[in-house]
Amino acid sequence: MPQPIPSLDDTSLLRARTALGDFELTVCTDGTYLLDGGAMFGVVPKPLWQKRIPADAENRVQLGLNSVVVRTGRHTVLIETGIGNKQPPKMQQIHQNQALLPASLAAAGIRQEEIDIVINTHLHFDHCGWNTTLQPDGSVTPTFPNARYFAHAGEVAHGHLQLDRDKVSYLSPNYDPLIESGQMTLLDDAAIQAGPQRCLEICPGISVELFPGHTQHMMGVHIQPDRAIESRPGAAVDTPHACYIGDLIPTAHHIDPTWVIAYDLDPVRCIAERKRFYERAIPEQWLVLFTHDHATPMARVALNEKGKPVVAAPAA
Ligand SMILES: [Zn+2]
Repeated sequence: MPQPIPSLDDTSLLRARTALGDFELTVCTDGTYLLDGGAMFGVVPKPLWQKRIPADAENRVQLGLNSVVVRTGRHTVLIETGIGNKQPPKMQQIHQNQALLPASLAAAGIRQEEIDIVINTHLHFDHCGWNTTLQPDGSVTPTFPNARYFAHAGEVAHGHLQLDRDKVSYLSPNYDPLIESGQMTLLDDAAIQAGPQRCLEICPGISVELFPGHTQHMMGVHIQPDRAIESRPGAAVDTPHACYIGDLIPTAHHIDPTWVIAYDLDPVRCIAERKRFYERAIPEQWLVLFTHDHATPMARVALNEKGKPVVAAPAA
């Protein structure tokens, strides 16, 4: 018997809202979904990870699908678009996902038409699903008609290869129609790394940086109301800075640099990239935005008495 898809009440549709300098950050959600707990924690033994997140009878853990809307005053930017409504029924039964992002945006008072920039950290199915919408007549249309979409060209190329390891994660209706219509801009390593601090500005206060490992071309998104992308390690800690880190650190349970996930194409690189991320994120007290943590969508990171990165305090 298929299990009923759990529903989220209205209060769950808005995961968090906070001011960051002059910007407003709203964490919306496409709902939750289930993945194998072992896959989410790689080589970490289950007795350790299940203390933090319980597994069901089939060893699955419940994860979030957080999309962040940044209102900068000039732009309304959407980072990540969840799983969407194009999943075949069999996949939806496996993942138990609810396709709630449109309802979540509405609950947050954000119209789909006012989103003018969409950024995908990478193009796995659970990060770009609502880029497009499956209509009742079978057609696929852009969910955000007035947006320019940004993704990495390497992700598109990798997805098109349909490799044995990860072909199920790349569903071309999530991006091909937008590329064909000219609505999606594809970025490359050279363009990203040519910018200040190897970041490419998408619009004032929003920039992307490469954090390879989960995929070769995964990007994190920096949110800096003061356009402080020239800030250096040791810069004033009151410079507001948030970072949507995609699947480099999918949940607050994955803050330990070695707790990388089995889906990572290069887990060793992920450990190195996490350490590189913390070199700035901890001293500069960045607000870290987690893609897949339904309960803790954002947190600052600090070092504990043993020198290990841990959640500092949930943000208001
Ligand atoms: Zn993901």
